[in-house]
Amino acid sequence: MAKSMIPAAKPIVGDEERAAVDAVLASGMLAQGAEVASFEEEFSAELTPGATSIAVNSGTSALHLGLLAAGIGPGDEVIVPSFTFAATGNSVAITGATPVFADIELDTFCLDPDSVRASVTERTKAIMPVHLYGHPANMDELSKIADEHGLMIFEDAAQAHGASLHGKKVGTFGTFGAFSLYPTKNMTAGEGGMVTASDPEFVRQVQLLRNQGMLTQYQNEVVGLNNRMTNIHAAIGRVQLRKLAGWTASRQQNAAFLDANLEGVITPPVVDGAVHVYHQYTIRIDGSDGAERDRFATALREEYMVGCGVYYPIPNHRLPSLAPYAPGLELPVTETAAKEVLSLPVHPSLSQDDLERIVEAVNQTAKAGA
Ligand SMILES: *Cc1c(COP(=O)(O)O)cnc(C)c1O
Repeated sequence: MAKSMIPAAKPIVGDEERAAVDAVLASGMLAQGAEVASFEEEFSAELTPGATSIAVNSGTSALHLGLLAAGIGPGDEVIVPSFTFAATGNSVAITGATPVFADIELDTFCLDPDSVRASVTERTKAIMPVHLYGHPANMDELSKIADEHGLMIFEDAAQAHGASLHGKKVGTFGTFGAFSLYPTKNMTAGEGGMVTASDPEFVRQVQLLRNQGMLTQYQNEVVGLNNRMTNIHAAIGRVQLRKLAGWTASRQQNAAFLDANLEGVITPPVVDGAVHVYHQYTIRIDGSDGAERDRFATALREEYMVGCGVYYPIPNHRLPSLAPYAPGLELPVTETAAKEVLSLPVHPSLSQDDLERIVEAVNQTAKAGA
């Protein structure tokens, strides 16, 4: 019997999500309302204790509104990684500010504090680390740099729901955190995002910006957007939030099995004090020129029916959209990562048979020297 493809990612949506959406539809209260308010409270309680959550319509909007609320705009520089989804740099650029791309550490794939330090100028306003693949960035060192230079910290936690460093949850380290609720993320609302922040004035500013600049109808205090979340999306998110801890535990168990059994590739380490939530389980094909990694991926898919993904094949500072912000910039570790990384399935729907097939596929392909 032909094996079926093990998908690289699989959103899990069940009867409870369906029932929650039905209840909202039956209520007639479709737009932002009580369901959104409950989701915000539950999100903070579960994932960012001490912070307030503000629900918006995407992770990108969460970054964008956070940046605007922090006063980022033309003439400002924000240091970001290049090895991330384009939304990170895009959100900075769309404010009129300049994204300044720094290099990463090859073990965690997150911002390298030395590269960040070297990127600080008199225009730098903030550092925006990404907790890539669900592993927390080096917040100890980045916070030190921010303190030394009077910079803000904005966290792109789009891939890192529940991750922490020394017991402190991502999304609570800086001026604000931004989470995504896109279907392939660790939990979803269909589409959606959360801004997390603890300063009441900052929170109020984000609440204003997401709703045409008003908290009371027709009393528009500032120029704003419509980036609201609907009650329908919030209903899905609330159910998913209750399941997240169990899913994260499955991701971590799946990762532990892969750590223990993969051979011939570099598995992703977890730094001391970090909790990794494995949005992706990303191995490196050591010394790959990119083409070798692509052949490796093709072998997994075609010979073993193991889905896999490359996040991200083109560093942001080389994309046609963002390259104009980085003329002549060289980020050697970022370039290496872009050629070597391969993300394997680690999602909660994997069976033991699936995990064993992934291990066999990787170990045989590595042995064959793709
Ligand atoms: C998904 C993602 C975003 C954007 O989130 P959306 O909900 O898709 O807008 C931002 N940053 C990173 C690192 C992401 O992975």
